[in-house]
Amino acid sequence: MAILDGKALSEQLIDSVKERASELSPTLAVILVGENPASMAYVRNKKKACEKAGIEYLEFKYPDTITQESLLEKIKELNEDDSVNGLIVQLPLPDQIYVPDIIRAIAPVKDVDGFGAYNLGKTFLSPDFEDLPPATPLGIVKLLDHYDIQVQGKEVVVVGHSNHVGKPVSVMLLNRNATVTTCHIYTKDLSAHTKRADILIVAVGKEKLITADMVKDGVVVVDVGINRNKEGKLCGDTDFEEISKKASYITPVPGGVGPMTVAALILNTIRATERQHKV
Ligand code: NAD
Repeated sequence: MAILDGKALSEQLIDSVKERASELSPTLAVILVGENPASMAYVRNKKKACEKAGIEYLEFKYPDTITQESLLEKIKELNEDDSVNGLIVQLPLPDQIYVPDIIRAIAPVKDVDGFGAYNLGKTFLSPDFEDLPPATPLGIVKLLDHYDIQVQGKEVVVVGHSNHVGKPVSVMLLNRNATVTTCHIYTKDLSAHTKRADILIVAVGKEKLITADMVKDGVVVVDVGINRNKEGKLCGDTDFEEISKKASYITPVPGGVGPMTVAALILNTIRATERQHKV
């Protein structure tokens, strides 16, 4: 079994854009609402990655009482500010905010999370159309590419069908000629599907949802989930210890998909800036 080391690759990718960043002087703006500890940790990682890459990082913090109108107004201001190249609104948002309207409000050219319909639509078409794909799926594709894991003709099973992870990663791998099955909470007999997987991607948010008896020997496992176990330690959705004995490759949590998501955000910020400068 080999580890898919997202942490090491993420550092490598961030390093590789430094020169381009110093030519382009990109700026990423991040809007953070409330004090959700997980969101605060993600935002800290994004800030650190920007500092390493040489991307200017701007953070706008608001209390969780912010109104939809005020948030939309700030997004409009940042959309219109030519010195800002990338804009993300950290999710989740409080209940009074209607998330689809927030995502819709972000200018497609600055949507470096790739959550909006325009960038998702391009991602849907083919790899040639991909412009700013959603960060986590892009990070997963980069990780598989780096380890030379062939996707074409493989049975890929994705567990989870969220708009920003499960669905787009399914489409991106379908567009790379895998045979993709997407499972979710209403899937009957999950293990009948997972057992067929050459590549298994799990993005659910449930500790040990996938156990060793649910995978075949030699499987490649990409665990997107982020959970805390009884001891308060971070863990994914798969039983890492037991599945490691059967898998050919597996991502650790932490140190797998998480850092790759941040690296992908950095790559998207560079790309967005290039598009805006038309270079
Ligand atoms: P979500 O909460 O939007 O959706 C969860 C998905 O899991 C849904 O499709 C649901 O149908 C499915 N599901 C729930 N219970 C299931 C079950 N018992 N069997 C099969 N499917 C089931 O999820 P999300 O936002 O895509 O996040 C999933 C996990 O990935 C979370 O733990 C999240 O924190 C993590 N995440 C990690 C990164 C990263 O960079 N590592 C990025 C995004 C999300």
